[in-house]
Amino acid sequence: SVVVIDNLSTGFSAFLPEGVPLFIGDAGDENLVEGVITQHGVESIIHFAGSVVVPDSMRDPLGYYRNNTMTTRSLLNAAVKGGVNRFIFSSTAAVYGNPDQVPVPEHAPTRPASPYGSSKLMTEIMLHDVASAHGMNYVVLRYFNVAGADPQGRCGLATVGATHLLKIAVEAATGQRAKIDVFGTDYPTPDGSCIRDFIHVSDLVQAHRAALAYLRGGRGSTTLNCGYGRGYSVLETIDAVRRVSGRNFAVSYGPRRPGDIMTMVADTRRIHAALDWTPQYDDIETIATHALAWEEKLFRERGGLPQHAESA
Ligand code: UDP
Repeated sequence: SVVVIDNLSTGFSAFLPEGVPLFIGDAGDENLVEGVITQHGVESIIHFAGSVVVPDSMRDPLGYYRNNTMTTRSLLNAAVKGGVNRFIFSSTAAVYGNPDQVPVPEHAPTRPASPYGSSKLMTEIMLHDVASAHGMNYVVLRYFNVAGADPQGRCGLATVGATHLLKIAVEAATGQRAKIDVFGTDYPTPDGSCIRDFIHVSDLVQAHRAALAYLRGGRGSTTLNCGYGRGYSVLETIDAVRRVSGRNFAVSYGPRRPGDIMTMVADTRRIHAALDWTPQYDDIETIATHALAWEEKLFRERGGLPQHAESA
């Protein structure tokens, strides 16, 4: 059984299944977390909370170190005090920075190119040290580019002002924005745009289930890339959304975005060896189809009103 803490800064209580208790508050509020651990007999923590936008972190590094690194320090303190000894942490491919080797394996050097990546890497280091000192076991899941939506349409990305590529593309496909900007067309990649390894959110959910089973199996701690091991360029991704939507929305080509990594693709050998995990949605058109269906539903439910000033 599950109990949720969320400050609802970007989340929505309506997406919780019936019967799941929600405590509205901060993951860094030690009193709140300790109370929930005791009251609900919490045995494992899955820590998803954090800020996730690379360019925002370039503008506001201290905000990222507070919300990602310091919050986790408090959460870990509460976990140690409450005797929780299993911890799953949402980390990121951004800890690698610009990798020397692609697909990038987990043992590659970690050289984050943004405060976002640094804030998550600092958390990984802290978690490792806390685990050694206090008999905790952890799985660090380094997410590549999470995309898509629940195939049954129950939930998906609904944050107003989200900046993720596929989200922007499906907003353009549903007419909520006039165009999509491509940030950088002069990278030394086959089509000049950046390359990403998109993982369907439902496959990522299953990786968390498998990670929990790994910890329950007493196999120690590990750090795993979560991706499919296959990259699509920004332009290919936009094309996939155009194909599945049948809408030929406008694309404009602009300069590079600060902090962007050129090519980020996961070496997935370790996750396949460690976890009982078989991806179900490893296909860019399937990911785009689910993201689009979700966006259309959101758009209908919001009364067809544009969410962004620039889309008017
Ligand atoms: N991107 C883009 N236009 C957009 C949003 C994103 O060209 O409107 C590019 C971005 O520069 C990066 C890739 O798409 O190369 C993925 O960006 P996103 O923000 O989705 O995820 P990130 O890889 O930064 O975590």
